[in-house]
Amino acid sequence: ELHNTILELKGNIRVFCRVRPLLPDESYSTEGKIISYPSSMEAAGRGIELAQNGQKHSFTFDRVFAPDASQQEVFTEISQLVQSALDGYKVCIFAYGQTGSGKTYTMMGRPGHPGEKGLIPRSLEQIFQTRQSQQPQGWKYEMQVSMLEIYNETIRDLLSTNKSSSDATRVDNGTPGKQYTIKHDANGNTHVSDLTVVDVQSVKEVAFLLNQAANSRSVGKTQMNEQSSRSHFVFTLRIYGVNESTDQQVQGVLNLIDLAGSERLSRSGSTGDRLKETQAINKSLSSLSDVIFALAKKEDHIPFRNSKLTYLLQPCLGGDSKTLMFVNVAPDNASAGESLCSLRFASRVN
Ligand code: ADP
Ligand code: MG
Repeated sequence: ELHNTILELKGNIRVFCRVRPLLPDESYSTEGKIISYPSSMEAAGRGIELAQNGQKHSFTFDRVFAPDASQQEVFTEISQLVQSALDGYKVCIFAYGQTGSGKTYTMMGRPGHPGEKGLIPRSLEQIFQTRQSQQPQGWKYEMQVSMLEIYNETIRDLLSTNKSSSDATRVDNGTPGKQYTIKHDANGNTHVSDLTVVDVQSVKEVAFLLNQAANSRSVGKTQMNEQSSRSHFVFTLRIYGVNESTDQQVQGVLNLIDLAGSERLSRSGSTGDRLKETQAINKSLSSLSDVIFALAKKEDHIPFRNSKLTYLLQPCLGGDSKTLMFVNVAPDNASAGESLCSLRFASRVN
């Protein structure tokens, strides 16, 4: 298969681009569509062109999904990567892009439309199905889920059952008494102190927790959508597998990350909290890009420590772990500037 060949050639980092359809309240300007897909042999399914101010910018990724790509089609392309978490790999899948470009749609899907489930629910279904089907071979798996948000370089536990402390978090951006200190042990396992980790047995249980996390994200928010687009959402599934007949053991991790909106927020107009937010987002997204770029170039020093996000994910980004970045792009003319920035960001890490 084509995408496997690419994976082998490029090592463990891949970049997929996904362009969402025009939304009902959007329209193309008289200039027409700004995004096109070259169909030459080498670029088919991998190339994208964006026209802006009479200039054409061309990019190539491991895969480009045009607006008509279904959630199922997108999942088909990542199902092997998801599978590798069960085989003991550490996997990270990111969604990067401006607010409104389709990150949450790609990760979670459209609420109330089960046919449009995103990568997170589809991945879980596949993992729990495989777990079931490998039982006859003696495999037993334990699975643990945690979900957190990184806002202003501060970790927030989304599964904490202590409601009042989550409320407090919103106000002062740090739950009193809870440190959420990140530690990596010698085996490459990450421990975040005070973070809720839940044993899960079924897709249904994880769905319940996802729902809880979504509610927790919105607690105490004055402008809910705005705030969630300004924090990174990190879903982590840890998998411990033991084969009872062969004594084989595997430990895999699947991290699915819905990143904060990448739109450039004007610094001049930002003051106080807003400016702090802007700086935190810029810092963590550029740190992520620096880390992935350094990994792709196989540099000696990888600057994991420059942000909470990269430090948290350190063991899952280096070594023989596997990383996939979705760059989500909106198709409308008004988004051209941001789309170009996103494509450039992604082609740097590609
Ligand atoms: P983001 O999380 O990047 O801010 P969303 O995922 O919320 O963006 O997407 C913005 C809007 O576009 C939502 O209404 C979402 O349902 C819709 N949307 C995004 N991608 C698609 C897609 N591929 N197909 C259909 N609708 C989409
Ligand atoms: Mg979103």
